[in-house]
Amino acid sequence: MSDKINLKDLSYEELEEFFVNIGQQKYRAKQVFQWLHNGVTNFDEMTNLSKDLRAMLAERSFISTVSIVDKRTSRLDGTIKYLLGLNDGNLIESVIMRYKHGITICISTQVGCRMGCNFCASTIGGLVRHLTPGEILDQVIFIQKDIGERISNIVLMGIGEPLDNYDNVIKFLKNVNHPAGINIGYRHISLSTCGLVPAILKLSKENMPITLSVSLHAPNDEIRNKIMPVNRSYSIDKVLDACRIYAETTKRRITFEYAMISGINDSVDNARELSSKIKDLLCHVNLIPINKVEEKEYSKSSSKQINLFKSILEKNGISTTVRRELGGDINASCGQLRRGHSKK
Ligand code: SAH
Repeated sequence: MSDKINLKDLSYEELEEFFVNIGQQKYRAKQVFQWLHNGVTNFDEMTNLSKDLRAMLAERSFISTVSIVDKRTSRLDGTIKYLLGLNDGNLIESVIMRYKHGITICISTQVGCRMGCNFCASTIGGLVRHLTPGEILDQVIFIQKDIGERISNIVLMGIGEPLDNYDNVIKFLKNVNHPAGINIGYRHISLSTCGLVPAILKLSKENMPITLSVSLHAPNDEIRNKIMPVNRSYSIDKVLDACRIYAETTKRRITFEYAMISGINDSVDNARELSSKIKDLLCHVNLIPINKVEEKEYSKSSSKQINLFKSILEKNGISTTVRRELGGDINASCGQLRRGHSKK
């Protein structure tokens, strides 16, 4: 399959070009794009194409799939955690979460991660490879097919650093937003980053009104350097400056994610310092009680401490929520299922 192209790795325009190049009409692109987004796994399912055209496609291209290797449904809240196998055997994770406003999927953008955040399970084996645009999309296509309900929101918060796989992620976003396909509005998509400043600035110019989530997790460089090696390249002030530019350019409110780690970043002073740094920014803070990762020594802050932290931010006029812990019974947090599987 190596010299064949995965049609889902092409943008809509590239797919049109592909058909023109093989002597076909442009409108074929729309038909095929629709089939692909509907989750067909075989060209023979594309019943509005002639047999000859289907054979021609099969000669030059293939349809990527993901297989469900493991699937766990939470009895507490209906969260579903998927361990998915890619065509080359690598494993990734996606999660379905049910909210009042609809069904959200959390997807992966890389196999592994090289950012090295030392509380995170996804980074333990380093980066294996980037996902292609089609592989990122396949998580949405095949899980939507599996649950038989429409997915309305996407968060790029699974395994990997989306801005470390910039071009593939942008192509995926354009395809998933395309009216001929799954067609999810940019306003229903959030991208989470550990703070790759040049990529945040580039993203601000893409004219894509997605929500940017930034994993801040600390109020100053001293603490952030200890838990997030990326901070040594892009300090907190540089990240916050990039966020200001992003918010001003896109008029979109930034979400800051802040994992509450007992004794590390959860003191009253930490809350005050954080407040003073982000007060002037169009933002929202999401406090996340940190999930225990077996290999790591950190533990989550007490709910008393989390509420105290929250009240300080709010006193400073910063809108703050504590993330509800979903799927607590199924090991639903990022990277843990893949990690558990590869240890077996
Ligand atoms: N690389 C991106 C997106 C993937 S991680 C990023 O860093 O934002 C998604 C979120 O989960 C990030 O906020 C990350 O810091 C957080 N996270 C990672 N490990 C965690 C853990 N053990 N407990 C709670 N949150 C964690």
